[in-house]
Amino acid sequence: MNDGWSTQVEGSKGNKYTVVYFAEDTKLRDGSRITEEMKYSCNCPQFTFRKLICKHIKPFMDGTKEHPKVDSPIKVMCTDCQEFMSESKVEFLNIEEDLFGRDRLTFNCPYCKTKQVSLRFG
Ligand SMILES: [Zn+2]
Ligand SMILES: [Zn+2]
Repeated sequence: MNDGWSTQVEGSKGNKYTVVYFAEDTKLRDGSRITEEMKYSCNCPQFTFRKLICKHIKPFMDGTKEHPKVDSPIKVMCTDCQEFMSESKVEFLNIEEDLFGRDRLTFNCPYCKTKQVSLRFG
């Protein structure tokens, strides 16, 4: 189970960086646990080259900035594949409500590459 997330942040010169959080509690080669700090990464120069917790990561670490929602457990159905798949894996096209107020998601299936409409199963 992966509760990781990634989000785009704006750097000082208008550059866009991506902050990634790996939720997996993997062990290091020497058997020690990874620290909370090591679960974060950013693709800005400060982090990439100097391996320092940068100002893009910091607000998420100390909680002053809210991180995006974790990978949603909502599933959608591709009728061509006859498969349920995580909503976060599909290419989102549109969402609308049906007559009963349920969400109907229009998406591109990543497997069969067709356009699908599905209710959202949570
Ligand atoms: Zn950064
Ligand atoms: Zn499909």
